[in-house]
Amino acid sequence: MANIPSPIENPEIKFTKLFINNEWVNSVSGKTFPTINPCTEEKICDVQEGDKADVDKAVAAAKNAFKLGSEWRKMDASKRGALLNKLADLIERDAQYLASLETFDNGKPYTASYFADVNLTIKCYRYYAGWADKNHGKVIPIDGEYFCYTRHEPVGVCGAIIPWNFPLLMQAWKLGPALACGNTVVMKTAEQTPLTGLYIASLIKEAGFPAGVVNIISGYGPTAGAAISEHMDVDKVAFTGSTEIGRIVMRAAAQSNLKRVTLELGGKSPIIVCADADIDDAVETAHFGLFFNMGQCCCAGSRVYVQESVYDDFVQKSAARAKRRTVGNPWQPSIEQGPQIDSEQFNKILGLIEKGKKSGAKLMCGGKRWGNKGYFVEPTVFADVDQNSVIAKEEIFGPVQQIMKFKTIDEVIQKANDTVYGLAAAVMTKDLDKAITLSNSIKAGTVWVNSYNVLTAAAPFGGFQMSGQGRELGEYGLRNYTEIKTVTMKISEKNS
Ligand code: ADP
Repeated sequence: MANIPSPIENPEIKFTKLFINNEWVNSVSGKTFPTINPCTEEKICDVQEGDKADVDKAVAAAKNAFKLGSEWRKMDASKRGALLNKLADLIERDAQYLASLETFDNGKPYTASYFADVNLTIKCYRYYAGWADKNHGKVIPIDGEYFCYTRHEPVGVCGAIIPWNFPLLMQAWKLGPALACGNTVVMKTAEQTPLTGLYIASLIKEAGFPAGVVNIISGYGPTAGAAISEHMDVDKVAFTGSTEIGRIVMRAAAQSNLKRVTLELGGKSPIIVCADADIDDAVETAHFGLFFNMGQCCCAGSRVYVQESVYDDFVQKSAARAKRRTVGNPWQPSIEQGPQIDSEQFNKILGLIEKGKKSGAKLMCGGKRWGNKGYFVEPTVFADVDQNSVIAKEEIFGPVQQIMKFKTIDEVIQKANDTVYGLAAAVMTKDLDKAITLSNSIKAGTVWVNSYNVLTAAAPFGGFQMSGQGRELGEYGLRNYTEIKTVTMKISEKNS
């Protein structure tokens, strides 16, 4: 394929230890855990398993790096931006290796790792590098003889807990704004995908970030993750993952030191296909909206509402498209779909497919395991899905598309909003009035019109309702990493 180096199919694993205070260390407990290749179900390697004692060490390092007078606190904002740009340059230098490592550990197709994950990661660091010296306060004309201004200060030690579906990118979404604003970070990567996060740690050191500014812990959620969200010296926690765990993280924050919390959680995002839409384009967009990344996207378009006059055509074409989807070896450029991340997700998806079959929905294609090795699931399409069935309500996080029929715009607004979530939505129409009415009416943090999965570092992303708290990315994303201080000075009149 043009402009893409061929993959390194068996990339050397260079880092497996914990990264604390710019050093590679073993876990205090001496424990390790395996990371598995989801294509083969075989172990790639063991990595050090961080727990509370390791999180304590990392938080102490991050707190020390944040001390008044430290190198990091005294650093010019423009220099912080320069370091982030240097990090982006190093990722670009090692893009082939990083994309290969991501595919190895996560199973996603190498072309996607390269074009989407690594590319967008580089762009995210560069975007926030630009903000480092632009996140400033205001001078406020308050009543009386006062000079009043606001300062945008860093929050402090920021905890970050990230998932396995986009390991490099989720790391960048948190590190980019946190470091641009001058915070220090203790991050726990997902236990399924620890490898690329550790390699980025080595580039952070190489770029020249001072010791303790970024600390990366591999480990499990209920141990290392909980230690971050409960920690009395962590000033903020940013979490991306399931709604269920988001609730636990928020509770831990409330019960400890009321640390600031941002959450990017699950979804059950609607795609509304109006009768006037370009149907072939809508079929392809909805297919991409659901099947991209094996359906493992929090914003996956997993409820497709199609207007009745084009419904049958849409269903037939969607099933035909899903049948054409290429599944298999993720190193091959022609492959669109690799395995699911692990046996737990794989079994959960197959279980929900069974529930879908029993619910009376019409299975148009797929519906079972693909092959006999690795966590592959056949691209699956259900039509005539009941709005109240489990597959229309629960997040599946797999390659399983649900298609439903609607008659009127009012009806589809009501159905689309009949969910506890609100992460994303899409509207497929050529009618401007419908596009505006629907995008204004749907409860979702992002609405795409005649498109899907357009995610850029410059535009905010996050959820309404139980899909989250706060927004990541864009200028809005800086708010999560900024404390606003108001300074008011009395001005005495001096006439001589
Ligand atoms: P998924 O179901 O997609 O794996 P999770 O919400 O379980 O999503 O996991 C997302 C991240 O949250 C992972 O890094 C995981 O280790 C972490 N995690 C899981 N349980 C907890 C917990 N009790 N406290 C903090 N973090 C957790």
